[in-house]
Amino acid sequence: MKIVAADIIVSSPDRNFVTLKITTDEGITGLGDATLNGRELSVASYLRDHVAPLLMGRDAHRIEDTWQFLYRSAYWRRGPVTMAAIAAVDVALWDIKAKAAGMPLYQLLGGASRTGIMAYGHASGRDIPELFDSIRRHLDEGFRSIRVQTSVPGINAVYGVAAQPSSTGQRYDYEPAQRTPLPVEEDWDTRAYLRHLPQVFEAVRSEFGPELPLLHDGHHRMTPIQAAKLGKALEPYDLFWLEDCTPAENQEALRLVRQHTTTPLAIGEVFNTVWDYQTLIREQLIDYVRSAVTHTGGITAMRKLLDFAAQYQIKSGIHGPTDISPVGMAAALHLDLAIHNFGIQEYMKHTPLANEVFRQSFTFTDGYLHPGDQPGLGVELDEEAAARFPYEPAYLPFNRLKDGTVHDW
Ligand SMILES: [Mg+2]
Repeated sequence: MKIVAADIIVSSPDRNFVTLKITTDEGITGLGDATLNGRELSVASYLRDHVAPLLMGRDAHRIEDTWQFLYRSAYWRRGPVTMAAIAAVDVALWDIKAKAAGMPLYQLLGGASRTGIMAYGHASGRDIPELFDSIRRHLDEGFRSIRVQTSVPGINAVYGVAAQPSSTGQRYDYEPAQRTPLPVEEDWDTRAYLRHLPQVFEAVRSEFGPELPLLHDGHHRMTPIQAAKLGKALEPYDLFWLEDCTPAENQEALRLVRQHTTTPLAIGEVFNTVWDYQTLIREQLIDYVRSAVTHTGGITAMRKLLDFAAQYQIKSGIHGPTDISPVGMAAALHLDLAIHNFGIQEYMKHTPLANEVFRQSFTFTDGYLHPGDQPGLGVELDEEAAARFPYEPAYLPFNRLKDGTVHDW
């Protein structure tokens, strides 16, 4: 079965998505997600100008060989643009292989290891009453695990808080990237955050009890010793995880955090290969791998990364906000269902417009996701609908401290 076409579709139904569609001489098509939030057109160009021509005439069944060819023949390895492009090809080829086999993709990955995929949702509020309302709304929607983000007194805009004013009027927790010509500037004060957050978790635990799994995302803003302090302060509230406590390109930094706290740690949404985790996994410095299938070389590379993590009792916590398209989300769900060391899946619902462009077959019932049993990934792209929403430039915000210094966002 030979590849005869590779089309790159950039569409913006409420946010930008880059989708690769591979077509074979047998008429089977496969989809891959290549969305890199705020840098979408770089991956589109990488695919259109440098990868699509190399795919023509290749055997669509040779997934591992194609992955190795794209990774090694470029000579310049790794990086989010390269690995998102490789991921899109990889996932599209898995979609094709599963459709050719007449099976949902998870069957080709070894079959289901569980009946459903525990998902967590994003609750947030500017103050405690608003946060409680948001948690209750998520519980009503069926979520059984909740990420908690709040505003901090003295800081104008904090990552992950939905009700904050945004220049486009969109819910901030749906998409922090704003459709503005320049990135929006936000402010940050780590000491104020460290003082405030334990009180928030104290309030949430006393309102909602000890059972509810609670998560929190530090969004790479702390130094190792600040992260250690926060992990320790949150221990009484029994978090499911503390995410991205430090920037973590410096993997050794996590040694210091780990020595000081038993709060479980999750890291890796900005990583793109197994090498970014080498020390973190081998020294058991984290508990959950946060990579996205979309940004980490696809199913082929994620399977190897998660198998490596499994040897150290480290579990999956696959990245799943709305900058992962329904195609990337479906790929994550098939992998989640098949692997043994599944931990939890991040899940934010896409808007009705996005769901018009991407027709999905995955389900969310009583806190659990399932990819469905259609052959392949189970997602179809409506190209006519996609064409109605052309690309619009959008950038993630950035942070400055009170003295004007640029800080991690
Ligand atoms: Mg995160």
